[in-house]
Formats: sequence, C-alpha cells, structure tokens
Amino acid sequence: MSTEIVGHWIDGAEVVGDSGRAADVFDPATGEVARSVALAGPAEVDRAVASAVAAFPGWRDTALARRTRILFAFRHLLDEAADEVAEVITAEHGKVVADARGEVARGLEVVEFACGIGHLLKGGHTENASTGVDVHSVRQPLGPVAVISPFNFPAMVPLWFVPIAIAAGNTVVLKPSEKDPSAALLLARLWQRAGLPDGVFTVLHGDKVAVDGLLEHPGIKAVSFVGSTPVARYVHERASAAGKRVQALGGAKNHMVVLPDADLEQTADAAVSAGFGSAGERCMAISVVVAVGPVADPLVAAIAERARSLRTGDGRRGCDMGPLVTGAHRDKVAGYVAEGQRAGATVVVDGREVAPDADGAGFFLGPTLLDHVTPDMSVYTDEIFGPVLAVVRVDTYDEALALVNANRYGNGTAIFTRDGGAARRFENEVEVGMVGVNVPVPVPVAYYSFGGWKDSLFGDTHAHGAEGVHFFTRGKVVTSRWPDTVRRGVDLGFPRND
Ligand code: NAD
Repeated sequence: MSTEIVGHWIDGAEVVGDSGRAADVFDPATGEVARSVALAGPAEVDRAVASAVAAFPGWRDTALARRTRILFAFRHLLDEAADEVAEVITAEHGKVVADARGEVARGLEVVEFACGIGHLLKGGHTENASTGVDVHSVRQPLGPVAVISPFNFPAMVPLWFVPIAIAAGNTVVLKPSEKDPSAALLLARLWQRAGLPDGVFTVLHGDKVAVDGLLEHPGIKAVSFVGSTPVARYVHERASAAGKRVQALGGAKNHMVVLPDADLEQTADAAVSAGFGSAGERCMAISVVVAVGPVADPLVAAIAERARSLRTGDGRRGCDMGPLVTGAHRDKVAGYVAEGQRAGATVVVDGREVAPDADGAGFFLGPTLLDHVTPDMSVYTDEIFGPVLAVVRVDTYDEALALVNANRYGNGTAIFTRDGGAARRFENEVEVGMVGVNVPVPVPVAYYSFGGWKDSLFGDTHAHGAEGVHFFTRGKVVTSRWPDTVRRGVDLGFPRND
C-alpha cells in the first residue's frame, strides 16, 4: 500500500495541511488503496479562501488581453497533457481510457469557449439616451468563487466552470471529489505553467467539512455545485442563506423514448452506449428505455445481444466498460438489481455474474438489463448511477411522455423515431432541460448551456455558455453626462429621457 498523500494546491504549491484527516483513494480496477487524499479542516479552508481573496484585486484588474493569452496557453497545455490527465482519471475513477480522453476533450471545449472572453464580456452602449447623456453596461467579476464537483467527471465538470470564472476575472477555489482528487492537481499545475498568477486557482480537498466551510465563508461570493440531488438541495439552501449566488446541479434519471418506427439497430446501439458507457456513472446516462408498443420485444433482444458482447474489466486494457468507483457503490447498485428482481422485473442480462478482465478484487458489475420494470419499483424511482438499464413498456406516445414528465428529475432525455412531427412534439412537450432527437446523450456544446430542470438543478442558471458567463459576472449600467457649455440648472423632478 502506498503512503502517497494528495495535497491541496494553495498559493501555487501542493500542501498537505494540518487537519490530520485523510481519506483512501482506490484503484477501482484492482480494489486496492492507491494513495490517500488530505481532507481539509477549518484552517485549510481559511487558508485557501484567504489566498483566493488576496489574488482577486490583481486578477480582476489584469488586462483582458493578458487573461485571454493565459487561457490560450492553458488550452494548449491541456491538449498536450490530455493523455496524462486521462490516465489519472482512469486510475482513480475506473472509466476506460478512451472515455476519460473524451471527458478531457469536452472540458477543452469549454476552455476554447472561454478564450473568447473579450467578446463574451462586451456590454452595450447607447449614445444620446437623453440629450447629451450616454449609457453603457459592463459585466464585472464577483470575487472568489467556489466550485464543488462530483467524482464522475473529475476533469470535465471542474472545466465547465473554472475557465469561464477565471476568464471573467474571478478567483476560484475548487473542491473536487475526494474519491478521485488527482486530476484537479494536474489542472492546477497546468494553470501555473500557463502563467496564471498564484492564488487565482486553488484546490481544496475534503469532504463535508470543506464544503460547509466554503458555503459559510464570507470570502466566497458564489458557489457552483454538481453532485447528487440531496447534497445539491442542501448546498443551494445553505449557500443562498449565507447570501451567495448559487447554482447546484443534481442527479438524474434519463429516459429514452423509443417509438415503433425507430431504426431498431441504431436505437439498440445508442441505448447500450448511453446506458453502459462509463459504467452508467454519468449524469446524462440513459437509465430507462421507454419502449412504445410493438417495439419492446425486438428492442430488448437487440439490447441484450449487445450488452452480453461488452467486455468489462480494467480500463487500461482496452475493455468496453470499467469498474464502479468504490466497492460500496458497486454493492449498492447490485442491491438495486436484486430489489428489482424481487419486485417482479425480469433480469435479462445479469451483471452480477460478470467475469472481469482485471487483476485483484476490483469493483465490477457487468452490464445489466431489466425488463418489465414498473414506475413503482426502486430501480425506476431512484437514481442508481450504475450499469443498469431498465425497460418500461407503454402502449402510446402519450403514456411515454406522461411518464417522463411525472419523474422528479429533468436532466436529459431522448426520443428515437423517424417521425419528425412526433419528435417536434416531444421537444416541445417534455419537461426536461436537455433533449436529444435520435441522440442518446444530448450534452450541449460549450457555447450552449448545460443544465436540467426540476430536481436536477437548484438555482436558475445553467453551466457554461452564455449562462455560465452570466453566473460568474454581475451587471452594472453607467449613465454619464460630460460637462458641456450649456448649464441645465437644478431640477428635482425624476430624470426623464428627452
Ligand atoms: P455527491 O453529492 O456525493 O458529491 C458531490 C460533492 O459534494 C463532492 O465534492 C463531495 O465531497 C461533496 N459532498 C458529498 N456529501 C456531502 C454532504 N453531505 N455535504 C456537503 N458536501 C458533500 O455526488 P457524487 O457521488 O460525487 O457524484 C454523483 C452524483 O452527481 C450523481 O447524483 C450524478 O447524477 C450527479 N451529477 C450531476 C451532474 C449534472 O450536471 N446534473 C453532473 C455530474 C454528476
């Protein structure tokens, strides 16, 4: 067992801190403890925030041209280091290397978007709004902000927020998941190499103690959180009560509605890719296939055939699907399969019987397909976050739509059909934030915004795109009149524009 400790990144250097607390970090493919991560106590929280507070005035006043050059340099360095970052992600999260590489690529897209910050921060200007009076608007940074991220995208989710927050002139304290903390440190080193001044980007490792410390700290002006729904709700309430701006993205249960006219082969490919990619540990994973009418039998058969052919194992060995993140999580997911079976679902493909291609006792569960799932079963009601695809059979489009809309989550959904009219109707009627038409994982590109509805997001601003820029800035409108030769005298009336 290694004694390596992953430390915080404060003032441009890695520090372990004095809290005396640490957590194990596993290699999920072998089940072994690979290293440990320092867990911040109140003193480390104070130190991290103090560094971000001290760096803010200088960074906020740094010319946009210089900030942009640093963003470009970071983009270049991250692209060069993409394989290294992907390997670190696989070693701690478990997802296969190709998938980890995809995560870095999607993160890079947000960096590229943030490189256009000069354009994104442009305000409006009106000449002569009143006689001799001009009006213009600016958007200014908020100050030090906190980003709190989940285990399932240790690079991409921080990159949804950090490049935009920094480009806009804020300083950032990132609290990554304690389950896979090392990618964040790699990002910190790349930012430093790109020329970012120390203190503008800080990494604070920890658990609830660190999160609570950031939520309450008066130095933190805004919080971007991504994680499970109960914690997202808590973070939103607590940070709001402390007077902070907050966006808290939560859990999901994403439905894929399959109409009878859908292309069966393409739809089955899509269901398997979206259901079992990253072992189902994606907030945009498809976890429920809603099969409408006669499509159910052939679709279940086609999905089952593909699911059985997937190779599960160590993500470094070219397998299709890796392990789950921890042993406890694997057991919890397997427990849901057992509960579903007891409640009457048919286990068509049973991942509990998997023989993984890996050494040791990794946290594996193979692809699992449950048919005849009903909306009262826990495999349907709960976010499972594992490689478990549930098939719910309905008779009509209206029943399918009602099912999706009655669900407490509203992150992503997709419809598979050849009928443009049905797809257009679904697009309009479905109560979900991100919708795919024959696209199973409709993650918006960086210049659009990412976010769900209902219990999948608390707050009213989505991540990245224009909403991301909006979240990390506040507006100011300046009305100005420059002295001219004509004196207007005192006027106590409310200013009128004429
Ligand atoms: P999690 O809620 O357990 O943890 C998220 C973050 O909160 C971590 O940094 C963790 O240290 C911290 N945390 C955990 N418990 C806490 C508590 N009681 N008080 C304060 N902080 C706490 O989530 P996870 O298991 O790391 O990630 C998986 C979840 O994230 C899933 O529910 C998934 O759907 C969701 N997710 C959502 C999106 C989205 O965009 N909506 C994206 C990725 C993941």
